[in-house]
Amino acid sequence: TRSAIKIQDGCDNFCSYCIVPSVRGEAVSRPDHDIIENIQKSIDIGNKEIVLTGVNISRYEYGGTKFEDLIEKIVHLPGDFRVRLSSIEPEGFTNKFVRLFENPKLCPHLHMCLQSGSEAVLQRMRRFYSISQYMEFIEQFKKAFPLFNFTTDIIVGFPGETDAEFKETLTIAKQIGFGHIHTFKYSRRSGTKADMMDGQIPEKLKSERSEMIRTLADEMKISYRRQFIGKGQRLLVERNSKKGGALGYGEYYIPIILKGCTVDRNTFVNVTINDLINDKEHNLLGLEI
Ligand code: SF4
Repeated sequence: TRSAIKIQDGCDNFCSYCIVPSVRGEAVSRPDHDIIENIQKSIDIGNKEIVLTGVNISRYEYGGTKFEDLIEKIVHLPGDFRVRLSSIEPEGFTNKFVRLFENPKLCPHLHMCLQSGSEAVLQRMRRFYSISQYMEFIEQFKKAFPLFNFTTDIIVGFPGETDAEFKETLTIAKQIGFGHIHTFKYSRRSGTKADMMDGQIPEKLKSERSEMIRTLADEMKISYRRQFIGKGQRLLVERNSKKGGALGYGEYYIPIILKGCTVDRNTFVNVTINDLINDKEHNLLGLEI
């Protein structure tokens, strides 16, 4: 059902905690015609969801074709499919990027790495955006698409992270209302700048902070998903459960279960959401139809 298409590799940002640029090299983009041909073939053999992947896909650029131009070309390909972007870094997007999401083929979901809600920590991390830029970007989207799903990565316990800086992260995360947060405890990587920084945080404190983010993330996930009750979704069925029910994801990347039914795998179904359920059998907090 889902086909991952790599559009670039490498990164030249050198965030202070990350070893990727040293091991994967500088950012290199794949030729756009090659990507388009690959995607068209994938659609032609029946894949319904195309996921664009890479190390830093927002920096895609090949022969004058930028990331936004590439997406525009992809969503105009013929066929019944949808496009999802994998993790992106919050940088360099214009209004054109926001408007691209008016096309129903482009899923209203972005996994946009925040890493910290503290300006000072972001600077120590050598990230390339400020909190206000990040917020401005989110606001633009939420104004145009109120239900847009923003998910993110947050690193807790970065060297020198004070209680006050950590609280800033909690505040910003709450303000944004993420649909999901991947929390990582900072871990040292030999050969990075952060590994040599003073103020390494004890594991116990990292675990406590991680738990606090997780608790907040769970609360936000529930309130975000509740908004879909009574609304329509386009479910792509990925599998049928032995215990009954067809399972898959809607365009907002929320798991959906169609209870008591069997539906052919790799089929789109337009559904209306009945309820939010905590389904332990299938290990999902999802939407029931
Ligand atoms: Fe590049 Fe991402 Fe690593 Fe930063 S965290 S250096 S943007 S790959």
